[in-house]
Amino acid sequence: MVDLKGQYQDIKHSVDNTIQKVIDEASFINGPKVKEFQTNLENYLGVKHVIPCANGTDALQIAMMGVGLKPGDEVITADFTFAATVEVVALLGLTPVLVDVEPNNFNIDIECIKKAITSKTKAIVPVHLFGQCANMEAILKIAKDNNLFVIEDNAQAIGANYTFSDGSKAKAGTLGDVASTSFFPSKNLGCYGDGGAIFTNDDDLAHKIRGIVNHGMYKRYHHDVVGVNSRLDSIQAAVLDAKLPKLDSYNKARQNAAKKYNTAFRAHPNLVTPKSGRDCDNICDNCDCHVFHQYTLKLKNANRDGLVAHLNTKGIPCGVYYPIPLHRQKAYKSERYNESDFKVTNQLSKEVFSLPMHTELEDDQIDYIVNTIKEFLG
Ligand SMILES: *Cc1c(COP(=O)(O)O)cnc(C)c1O
Repeated sequence: MVDLKGQYQDIKHSVDNTIQKVIDEASFINGPKVKEFQTNLENYLGVKHVIPCANGTDALQIAMMGVGLKPGDEVITADFTFAATVEVVALLGLTPVLVDVEPNNFNIDIECIKKAITSKTKAIVPVHLFGQCANMEAILKIAKDNNLFVIEDNAQAIGANYTFSDGSKAKAGTLGDVASTSFFPSKNLGCYGDGGAIFTNDDDLAHKIRGIVNHGMYKRYHHDVVGVNSRLDSIQAAVLDAKLPKLDSYNKARQNAAKKYNTAFRAHPNLVTPKSGRDCDNICDNCDCHVFHQYTLKLKNANRDGLVAHLNTKGIPCGVYYPIPLHRQKAYKSERYNESDFKVTNQLSKEVFSLPMHTELEDDQIDYIVNTIKEFLG
């Protein structure tokens, strides 16, 4: 699905040098590289505070601890996402409230959010799935009207732009009260191990979160709140700082590959190519709003699992994100859910499949993938 070796060849020189420097300085934890990367990412995103941490799951948990959510508080999030999103809600003793998503862009459905709000609701967690933002303008309005926090799970959309109806733009992860991201190797900005970060424009919240990631310490050996130990190590920060200047070109390469897939598949009767919101109502071809963490198609009236198995035998990695909606997972089942409230996620889990998508996809690879799929579908 990704070609991290190919990508490394291109940046080997700068990555090797910067890692060697960390080793020479023996500044493995909280070294200068962590601070440098933090500042560079703040500048790239146009956000006041980036707080690095150990991974994207921690980042979400810490963001929720930071805004002060308490056991029993209800948190509304999408039924169609990676389990990490709902896992941390449950771990903190908060009540996850899963809701259906939009059939075209796979992101949380605005009307479903409205219906799910109760007197206990304290936060909405939109997940910018597969590389494009949820409908943030509507979500921010609902949050304002109902006094809710907005915590963006931006693990899949770093570098994506969001365009408001007045034409103004901002980066994914800078729109809500606080956001989390992951630097897992296969993410759009990935390190060579685990890593994550929290973003916010709120000075007080940033201060609070800097303590939470470090055992609740604001002054050495004074523990004011219950915290966690969650650090980005200097070697990972060095890798990320070497890759950050390339992020826009990496995302552009993904968009170009997506465009080629779109051209090949858009007329096929069994395939529905990825759609996106305001910037391009229809097929997402020429916008900066989608950074294609995944290139995900819907297969209509054909054997999805048969196609995935066939592609795998032909040497084409192909994944299903996500085969089981969260409300049907053993760990997250709840009496409050009715199957009829999850028509879209139930359908998507049967129809979606994701093709190889990375920064090193060559035209002949894309042709091979396209031809193999078309042959199978007849
Ligand atoms: C990858 C991912 C996470 C978790 O990130 P880790 O760094 O693996 O902990 C959370 N949410 C979403 C939507 C993700 O894709």
